[in-house]
Amino acid sequence: MSSIADNIGSVTRRIQKATLQAGREPGAVQLLAVSKARPPDDLHEAYAAGQRAFGESYLQEALAKIEALADLDGIEWHFIGPVQSNKTRQIASAFSWVHSVDRLKIARRLSEQRDPGMPPLNICLQVNINEEDSKSGSRITELPELVAAIGELPNLKLRGLMAIPDPDQPEAELRTSFRKLANTLKQLKTDYPDAGPLDTLSMGMSGDLDIAIAEGATWVRVGTALFGKRPAKS
Ligand SMILES: *Cc1c(COP(=O)(O)O)cnc(C)c1O
Repeated sequence: MSSIADNIGSVTRRIQKATLQAGREPGAVQLLAVSKARPPDDLHEAYAAGQRAFGESYLQEALAKIEALADLDGIEWHFIGPVQSNKTRQIASAFSWVHSVDRLKIARRLSEQRDPGMPPLNICLQVNINEEDSKSGSRITELPELVAAIGELPNLKLRGLMAIPDPDQPEAELRTSFRKLANTLKQLKTDYPDAGPLDTLSMGMSGDLDIAIAEGATWVRVGTALFGKRPAKS
C-alpha cells in the first residue's frame, strides 16, 4: 500500500498536470485534504509531507482533531459538512473556511458568532447544482439574493461557490455541472462586485478532480485518493 506522503505526491502531480493542460496559472488550484473519519496520525503524516489545509465534515470529530493537532504551525481547517444552526458558534471559532453555507440564517449566525478580532471567516455557498431534491445546497435561482445579503455581513468573506455533483454521472454531465457552477460564479461576480472576492470554486474530488480543474476549480477536496478508502461511518 502506498503511504499518505506518496499519495499527496501523486495527487499533487495530477493537479499540476490538469492545471497545465487547462492553460491555468501554476498554483491556481489548491488541495484540500478531506480528513473526515481519519485518525490524527494520518493528518500528522500528511502535515509532515507538507499538507496544510484539511477538510472535515463532522463537527465533534473535527473539534477533537483540531485540539489534538493545535501545535502544528500553519494548519488550516475547512468545514465542508452540512451546517446545523446549533453548531455555528463552534464552527465560527474553530475554522478558517466553511464551504457548505446554504442559507442566510446560517451565514448571519456565523458572522455574529465570529470573533471580530479574528480574520473574517471565508465562506462558500453550497449549490445544489443538479437540483436534486435529496441534496443540500441552495438553488442557482436563490443565489443572487443570498449573495447580496451575505455581502453585507461584517465578519464573513464571501469567497465563492461549492458543489458536490453526483460523481457517478457520465463524464460529459459532470463537466456540464462544473461548467455551470463556474459560469454562475462569473455572473455573480459581475452582478455583485462588492459582495466579496468571489474568487473560489470548490469542486472536484478524488474521482473527478481533473475535470473540475479543467472547468476552473480553485480548491479540490480530496479524501480517498490521499488516505485510502474511508471506514464505514458507525
Ligand atoms: C468526503 C467528501 C469529499 C472527499 O471525497 P473523496 O471521494 O473521498 O475524495 C469531498 N467533499 C465533500 C463535501 C465530502 O464530504
